[in-house]
Amino acid sequence: MRSFKPNHRSILVGLILGAIAGIASHEIADRSQVFSGWLTFTTDTIAYPIGQIFLRLLFLVVVPLVFASLAAGVARLGDLSKLGRIGVRTLAFFLLTTSFSVVLGLGAMDLFRPGSGFNPETRTELMETFAQDSAKLVEKATAQEVETTIMRVNQILDMFLPRNIIGAITQMQMLPLIVFGILFGIALSVQSPRRRDEMTTWLDTISDAMVTIVGFAMRIAPYAVFCLIFVVMSKFGAQLLVKLSFYVLIVIGCYLIQLFVLYPILLRTVVKRNPIDFLRRSIPIMVTAFSTSSSNATLPTSIQVSQQDLGIRPTVAGFVLPLGATINMNGTALFEGCVVLFVAQVFGIELSFAKQVLVLVLCVVSSIGVAGVPGGSLPLLMIVMAQVEVPAAGIAIVLGVDRLLDMGRTVVNVMGDIVTAAYIESAEQRADLRAELRQN
Ligand code: ASP
Repeated sequence: MRSFKPNHRSILVGLILGAIAGIASHEIADRSQVFSGWLTFTTDTIAYPIGQIFLRLLFLVVVPLVFASLAAGVARLGDLSKLGRIGVRTLAFFLLTTSFSVVLGLGAMDLFRPGSGFNPETRTELMETFAQDSAKLVEKATAQEVETTIMRVNQILDMFLPRNIIGAITQMQMLPLIVFGILFGIALSVQSPRRRDEMTTWLDTISDAMVTIVGFAMRIAPYAVFCLIFVVMSKFGAQLLVKLSFYVLIVIGCYLIQLFVLYPILLRTVVKRNPIDFLRRSIPIMVTAFSTSSSNATLPTSIQVSQQDLGIRPTVAGFVLPLGATINMNGTALFEGCVVLFVAQVFGIELSFAKQVLVLVLCVVSSIGVAGVPGGSLPLLMIVMAQVEVPAAGIAIVLGVDRLLDMGRTVVNVMGDIVTAAYIESAEQRADLRAELRQN
């Protein structure tokens, strides 16, 4: 595979400078109308387009890259029982880590109750400020509601088995693409070895070309990341962070526990790798996830770094990482649980233990359907809130700080996939060793 070196130090510098410049501009714009007009003009005509060019270069390669790496990975496995074993292990690991994250989020919210003493005036003010955004989300969420059972069955089938794969892809639906990639790989594996090898070489070339395009994006990454963060911070400033500081701190605390306690424990005990070294090698992945807020946009970097620096074989990385970027969202599930409880507390609604168990199940299930793009979880989160009778429009209270929390949860999401890939790699190495011993 071709390589690109994500320059994570410069990206980090861009991130910090962008945040500082954004917060400072927000403060100045609050005091001067002339500056405010100038700020809107520069963000709209310079910062926003530069950030978008970077993001779009990353999104652009996702469909061909996911398809090529998944199909080639599955075709090379060659053996359906091996695919079944890896598939079951991967899904079980995803489910366990996601459930743990929701329990962690709910536990922290129950323990610290950041919403209980929340100022009612701030609540009204935030609800008014973000009423338009939350109304748009309600519209999105209700658009997904269906009436009859047949419609519901069709809706579920459409999620992974659409009638028209191209149609699904044009809407950036990743699950059908994954199913198609796996089926294509299985179908390839039963062709004659010559034809199969010819096609996998083609698929490898496609993956390499996509990675080269990501390399182009990475050249502008430090400037683009500066612009992306600048746009967000200049719009919202830091005051909101102060108003919601208790809630924000608890959510970030949970992210950190997941990242620096749970994942290292799993790496040490199950994967049997040095967690510090592993996390250090994963820095480019974390920086990309943080600055793009998108699991999909981080996928090319994840595939590249996991193969080159984390010693994960292409068949495992090609299978686990695209699947994980689509259905494994530990940080999102954790965050959803936190928001449901926080908003319930702000409105003085007590959620019983049984209701919280329902929240747990809903968060795990809904996180599977979340799109790996910035803010992808918000429409589904509103459906979860409505199911447990927490006012969905209450999401307005936390919308202003969502982008910041989105950056953090995307890091947790992506690292969940990487740890799972490392676990599958270690399990496969043990299986190879056993097979070798049996042969001798
Ligand atoms: N931004 C998240 C991701 O791409 C999804 C979300 O929780 O909104 O992983």
